[in-house]
Amino acid sequence: MNSELNDDVIVVGCGVVGLTTAVVLAESGRRVRIWAREPAERTTSAVAGALWWPYRIEPEVLVGEWALQSLSVYEELAARPEETGVRMVEGVHGETVLDGLGSWAARVPGLRAATAGEYAGVGLWARLPLIDMPVHLAWLRERFVRAGGTVEERYVTDLAEVPAPVVVNCTGLGARELVPDPGMRPVRGQLVVVENPGVTTWLTSGESDTKATYFFPQPGGLILGGTTEEDDWSLTPDPAVAEAIVRRCAALRPEIAGARIIDHRVGLRPARDAVRLERELLPDGRVLVHNYGHGGAGITVAWGCAREAAGLASR
Ligand SMILES: Cc1cc2nc3c(=O)[nH]c(=O)nc-3n(C[C@H](O)[C@H](O)[C@H](O)COP(=O)(O)OP(=O)(O)OC[C@H]3O[C@@H](n4cnc5c(N)ncnc54)[C@H](O)[C@@H]3O)c2cc1C
Repeated sequence: MNSELNDDVIVVGCGVVGLTTAVVLAESGRRVRIWAREPAERTTSAVAGALWWPYRIEPEVLVGEWALQSLSVYEELAARPEETGVRMVEGVHGETVLDGLGSWAARVPGLRAATAGEYAGVGLWARLPLIDMPVHLAWLRERFVRAGGTVEERYVTDLAEVPAPVVVNCTGLGARELVPDPGMRPVRGQLVVVENPGVTTWLTSGESDTKATYFFPQPGGLILGGTTEEDDWSLTPDPAVAEAIVRRCAALRPEIAGARIIDHRVGLRPARDAVRLERELLPDGRVLVHNYGHGGAGITVAWGCAREAAGLASR
């Protein structure tokens, strides 16, 4: 027998979903390896803003529970922000009311209508996890390695050929070709990072289907967003789109207008009609668990999904 077959689990994918799933499995005592085409810092996960909030993700009945489980974890991690990259930050979701949200919203501590001083319009005030993804991904990787895990750069072309008794598929948009799953499609998001002119709270506003306007204060700069472009595969920042993002954000906070641009970022959200979190058997009887298709909220639901995926990998 190939010695590789003795390894318990191979997780394919090293974004937030793969890393979090691998951490849960490794800390439960499994021997886990990650195989990934790109390291964490070059994934979609590294591009995200990233605010905890169920956005552009289905199915709603399951998403709430996954998101709330993750919220509890992030609240704990926020006690060590420098190390974990997670902070609890106040802000307002403009044009949002509590009644318009799923039942999960009633269990988010402190959500309330924004006062007139907090937002010029209808809005929802919240104190939520805001996650500095480059720091958080590096921390997750380290936690995984500390639990005995290893990370290898490998491109997988056939899940059935991954040599482990249990294979966990956390390939995000890569699942479109790998599974193959034609239901996977990109929802492009473009961001601009500027030097922070003194903004300490986050804001999302004026949500339409293609132009969600938002800004998130991160230690490395103020992240301005954004776009949601269905079926657009371009990873090249569009200068006209960047200019429009800055203009829309500056309409909400005038000091943003003159802020120096540090970076442009583009990512493709791994969208699907519903997250695929299920177990199947490979032709030779080995277990394959799928955990992909988290759209615009993979970070928001990562820990809830990771625990469920780990459960499916154990039965
Ligand atoms: C602009 C933008 C803003 C966002 N903001 C937020 C936010 O505020 N909050 C939030 O919760 N979410 C946000 N998201 C969504 C979030 O980023 C995604 O849902 C999440 O990153 C998906 O994680 P993932 O691990 O499934 O995929 P990815 O991060 O894409 O990782 C997939 C991994 O699989 C590997 N892989 C793929 N195919 C193969 C293969 N064939 N062989 C080997 N390895 C393979 C890749 O190399 C990679 O390591 C945002 C996304 C974008 C683009």
